[in-house]
Amino acid sequence: METVLLLTHADAGKPALEALAAAIPLKRDGGTLVVGLFGADVQPFANEIAGCGATKFLAVTGAEFTQARYASDAAAAEALVKASQATIVVVPATSRMNRIVSGVAHRCGGRADTHVTGMANGNITRWYYRQRMESQQSRTQRPWFIAIDPGCHAPYSGAAGTAATTPVSVSLPTITTQVTGVKAPESSQQTIRPDAKLLFVAGAGWTKKQPDGQAHVPEAAELIMGFLNATKASLGSSKSLVDLSGEGQAVLPFMSHLNQVGQTGSTPRHPKGLSTCCHGEEPHAVGWRFIGERRAINLDANCGWARGKADVLYVADAFEVMRKVNQLLGAR
Ligand SMILES: Cc1cc2nc3c(=O)[nH]c(=O)nc-3n(C[C@H](O)[C@H](O)[C@H](O)COP(=O)(O)OP(=O)(O)OC[C@H]3O[C@@H](n4cnc5c(N)ncnc54)[C@H](O)[C@@H]3O)c2cc1C
Repeated sequence: METVLLLTHADAGKPALEALAAAIPLKRDGGTLVVGLFGADVQPFANEIAGCGATKFLAVTGAEFTQARYASDAAAAEALVKASQATIVVVPATSRMNRIVSGVAHRCGGRADTHVTGMANGNITRWYYRQRMESQQSRTQRPWFIAIDPGCHAPYSGAAGTAATTPVSVSLPTITTQVTGVKAPESSQQTIRPDAKLLFVAGAGWTKKQPDGQAHVPEAAELIMGFLNATKASLGSSKSLVDLSGEGQAVLPFMSHLNQVGQTGSTPRHPKGLSTCCHGEEPHAVGWRFIGERRAINLDANCGWARGKADVLYVADAFEVMRKVNQLLGAR
């Protein structure tokens, strides 16, 4: 019988709800579910998940747990794991939890598995070699820490209520780190939207010479932003397109390396994806592993998407297609 702990900072949002939904079935065969939360104020999130069937809601609260900081986060998490006597600890793989999960597992004499994408029958599922191979694994070591990648599980959606939280005390080490701000790569527009229903990918073709012998980068930028503004889709890119800026060529101003999808980029998760002016080569298309339905627009009927990488390939000029689509959407 397992004691399953959902362990998270209380402001993790949807990834925490996904981890909770993944944790609930693990208490099968008479096990128990405990929730462990830390943060400045954990009550709102505890209330949101009050109906999840947890026997206890353990809480570490206080101003010192507002900031994401290794020393205080790890101390809080360790105290919660020890107070719960958990045998399985499920955490959402937010950057804040990813940073502490291995250290806390070590302090508790456990083992941690990160980048877990699924769980079934006591096994976890992980992908290897940039999503080209899938494995199922299990562990006998307890406590077993499992970090669930966001976007892999339907979020918990039970009734809210009033959760009775039990405070857990923490002996904090001397705190020497203060978070004074966030530095992020410059991007004139926020184009990465992990929760969007659609991933719109732009490839280097948008910047290449078109059949009239000219490149049309400003129009490409207008068409892409028009579509994104109208649909709230998330923007992905091929490596070639984001690399162009480094090579001094005209590029789309709102595109950064953070948009890159693929082997050396990200593996986003969206129900649908539309690739435009991108060839669909394996190092790019491997990043589409978790995209539900894939479509592509390419002038070349022989491009990579045509070779089993897309569900639908429109052999067409993406400028023409997106101009028409934006017109239908009433985009500006
Ligand atoms: C180790 C390694 C790691 C890599 N990692 C990544 C990665 O993480 N992500 C990634 O993306 N790539 C990666 N690559 C690079 C990858 O192999 C390709 O070079 C890259 O994806 C090509 O980008 P692209 O399709 O945008 O450009 P191109 O290959 O130049 O293709 C442009 C496409 O646009 C089409 N096109 C042009 N005009 C139009 C139009 N008007 N309408 C419709 N279609 C049009 C053309 O037909 C063409 O197919 C990696 C490569 C290596 C070796």
